[in-house]
Amino acid sequence: MTRVFNFSPGPATLPEAVLRQAAEEMLDWHGCGMSVMEMSHRGKEFMGIYAEAEGLLRELMGVPSNYKVLFMQGGAIGENAIVPMNLIGRNGKADYAITGDWSKKSHKEATRYGQAQVAVQGDNVSIPKQSAWKLDPAASYVHICSNETIGGVQYHWTPDTGRVPLVADMSSDILSRPIDVSKYGLIYAGAQKNIGPSGLTIVVVRDDMLGHALPITPSAFNYQVQGENDSMYNTPPTYAIYIVGLVLKHFKANGGIAAVEAHNARKAKILYDFLDASSFFRNPVAKEDRSLMNVPFKLKDETLDEAFLKGAAAGGMIQLKGHRSVGGMRASIYNAMSIEGVQALVKYMQDFERQHA
Ligand code: PMP
Repeated sequence: MTRVFNFSPGPATLPEAVLRQAAEEMLDWHGCGMSVMEMSHRGKEFMGIYAEAEGLLRELMGVPSNYKVLFMQGGAIGENAIVPMNLIGRNGKADYAITGDWSKKSHKEATRYGQAQVAVQGDNVSIPKQSAWKLDPAASYVHICSNETIGGVQYHWTPDTGRVPLVADMSSDILSRPIDVSKYGLIYAGAQKNIGPSGLTIVVVRDDMLGHALPITPSAFNYQVQGENDSMYNTPPTYAIYIVGLVLKHFKANGGIAAVEAHNARKAKILYDFLDASSFFRNPVAKEDRSLMNVPFKLKDETLDEAFLKGAAAGGMIQLKGHRSVGGMRASIYNAMSIEGVQALVKYMQDFERQHA
């Protein structure tokens, strides 16, 4: 068996130890005679798996007790509608900070449910300083995307929105670094980049945010209804929850999120240091706003793109093609990407540069 270095933006690479454990437990989970996939979500086996996954998420993220953790479906694109449906009802308007493709999409979807205002419009290669933002003190919330997966810009500071709750799409950097959850009214993220498979959406929501859902909100997407039912108003994505539990247990055993952060910083430094020293490859993002998760880069001569991708694949490095909207390349180096993977990529890039410069 050979495993590739998978630089996919998501679904993405997962810790091999977790995949092995899942494989071992596939047919018979802990002697109960069935797979996790076959269990009733209300049975005692799955209730235990669920409680452990939620407990680990609370512990590793540092979720205060006045927040609910919801395990939902619909992904972050679903949340683009679910968030305003649940939250914009307080006074009908919300602020959106647009820093790239994903926050732009969030804003566009929100306009269907209320007055979604643009607090700031970035240039896609940096995060605008807060002094440039126009915040409405009467907004129901301020929405940001903490890491723009396509553009490769990431917040390395937390906006101060005063009494207006901060809402963050953390799909591509959840649990990649410690954060102060108490600064947010709501955090949402698809699981499929840093902590598990697709199909599971994590929502962390402060209790006082609930109770303003628009009447049109589907019950399955109503945070209050899901909170009152321990995310079991409908059948939750059970197998994805199980895998997330295994991944979080793996992080905990390896030093927790501080260790995950250090590992991520080390990987990103290897790649950015190389890019900055190269006159053949280039990353366009302002240094202080660079993403530690998604590293877009361009070759000096784009007619070499195909050859670059082909050679990478031949060396066991896949999914490096940049998003179709920006072109070029993108290396996604989420939690489970190894140092070895990044070193192999840099070595390949060095060789490629030498051959083609
Ligand atoms: N937001 C961000 C920041 C993302 O990276 C993605 C997925 N690439 C999405 C939203 C959309 O996620 P999904 O397709 O799971 O709904």
